[in-house]
Amino acid sequence: MVSTVSFLFDEKGTLTLSSGLEGTRLGIDNVPLLGLSIHKLEGKDRFLRDLVLRGLQGETSMQEIRANGRIYFNTYSPVANLDGAIGGVIGVSLDVTESRQAEETRSKSEFRWQMLFNAAHDAIFTMDNRTFVDCNEATLRIFQCKKEDIVGQTPYRFSPLYQPDGRSSEEAAMEKINAVLAGQPQSFEWQHIRYDGTPFEAEVSLNRLDLPGEILIQAIVRDVSERKRVMDENSRLALVANTTTNMVVVADPQGRIVWVNPAFTRTTGYLLEEAKGKTPGSLLRGPASNPIVSAQMGENIRKGIGFKDLEIINYNKTGKPYWVSIEVQPIYDGNGQVTQFIAIESDISDRKATQQALMERHEDLMKINAELDRFVYSASHDLRAPIASLLGLIEVARLEKDRTGINQLLDMQKKSLERMDRFIQDIVDFSRNSRLPIEIESIDFRQAIDRALEQLQFMEKMKMISIGIDVSQSQSFYSSTTRIDIILNNLLSNSIKYSDLRKSPPRLDIQVTIDRDKARLRIADNGEGIPSDSMGKIFNMFYRASRSSSGSGLGLYIVKEAVEKIKGTIHVHSEFGTGTEFILEIPNQLPPSTN
Ligand code: ADP
Repeated sequence: MVSTVSFLFDEKGTLTLSSGLEGTRLGIDNVPLLGLSIHKLEGKDRFLRDLVLRGLQGETSMQEIRANGRIYFNTYSPVANLDGAIGGVIGVSLDVTESRQAEETRSKSEFRWQMLFNAAHDAIFTMDNRTFVDCNEATLRIFQCKKEDIVGQTPYRFSPLYQPDGRSSEEAAMEKINAVLAGQPQSFEWQHIRYDGTPFEAEVSLNRLDLPGEILIQAIVRDVSERKRVMDENSRLALVANTTTNMVVVADPQGRIVWVNPAFTRTTGYLLEEAKGKTPGSLLRGPASNPIVSAQMGENIRKGIGFKDLEIINYNKTGKPYWVSIEVQPIYDGNGQVTQFIAIESDISDRKATQQALMERHEDLMKINAELDRFVYSASHDLRAPIASLLGLIEVARLEKDRTGINQLLDMQKKSLERMDRFIQDIVDFSRNSRLPIEIESIDFRQAIDRALEQLQFMEKMKMISIGIDVSQSQSFYSSTTRIDIILNNLLSNSIKYSDLRKSPPRLDIQVTIDRDKARLRIADNGEGIPSDSMGKIFNMFYRASRSSSGSGLGLYIVKEAVEKIKGTIHVHSEFGTGTEFILEIPNQLPPSTN
């Protein structure tokens, strides 16, 4: 391909010299060139006529023709004759395909580079040995200034006087600049200031740019203040998570453990590797964990809802239960999807124990209060009734002259006093049972029964009753003597009190069997029995089921309380008119040495 072709049009517009010329170079490929007259050109080819005519009028024109993948640059210039008049037009056609393409690529790559330069996140700028020469848009954003504020300035205008290590910024900057100019690329951390003086942390890299005729420094400054801030915050958060005594669990959207803190391992005994991939529920819940609370937590997790202050019993690796209060917060991504859950759990076992103790104390107090109320009522009734009858009897006795009559009245007075005495004795028993500490002593049941019967020997019916005692005690038995005495006294006195003298004979059977674990007592009589509608109430305070009762109605209540104190059980079977049987089981509280 010929790169340059010349041609000539004469003053009439006829092509006269055209060696090697092709129509395509001029943009008229369908017209024969030989003897071509511009006046014959028609249609789209008329532009050539215009160019030549302009030449003949003394004007130079230029034209670019693209044809068959080539680019031609054509000039049409007037040619003067010797007399100075225009005698024709000379054309030169250059094939500029290669050079034009090179130019285009160059400007394209320059454009791309410029784009990159400006779109970059980091500040990129060039400096001569002292000042800023050019910069990208990120530079203006990072230093918060306009281009004219920065070009021509020194880099230490954008640095504090001193770097955090105490060195003068100017001195340190010059050292880096000199080093890079000497051919050693530099990369370092630097404290910069924005245009308004706000400091920020940066990572800087400097390179030497060898350009034709000049040497520049190219600098890239990355603002790492945000990254540093996040890192600082993360390390502070990690410190909190690692040192808090609260358990911290990070779980995936399905609630499976991803991370746990050291407090979690300390409390539960599970290492991260053991806990990973499991749900806290499957790992930590056990028989005493409230299934409703557990289900509610699971439901919230499934729905991606956080919760707070839910309390549940968890179990550690060795199976020991402990109370926790749990707060769970979901973490969302930009689209509102849960990416993870953060759970913070605190061990509230101590608080729960205190709460429990308070509750029990509260219940005790409520009970004591209720007892006191009933007691006041009953005291006014049961103590004042015998006193009233006593006073009455005394008045009657004053008027009585007859000795037998007086004796009868005295007997009646005695009964009233005995009734009061029993009542007071019951109150004392009740008080002893509830106030006296439990002292565990060795108990000989045979002796305890004899002691009780001896106290009851003055009861009128006692003589008429046939009493059978069967104690099989080969094993030492330990419990509270005071409580056993209270129980036996009351149960035996009831059997005598409510015995039916029409039976022959009225019987009282006392059986005790003792083994290593417990004593089993059976106290059975063939007395009057208890009406079935009273059976549920006989252990209530001040409840009397029998018209023949002259007691306080406290006896069985005290028995039940005493049995509870020594952790035993009591059951009653009775048939009205036939008899009554009490069955007791009292644990053998062997001292530790004999265990
Ligand atoms: P009380 O002072 O009336 O004896 P208790 O609390 O000892 O009070 O007994 C409550 C009631 O239970 C008695 O009033 C009596 O009706 C009935 N009861 C207790 N023990 C017997 C028994 N062995 N046989 C028949 N009834 C009994």
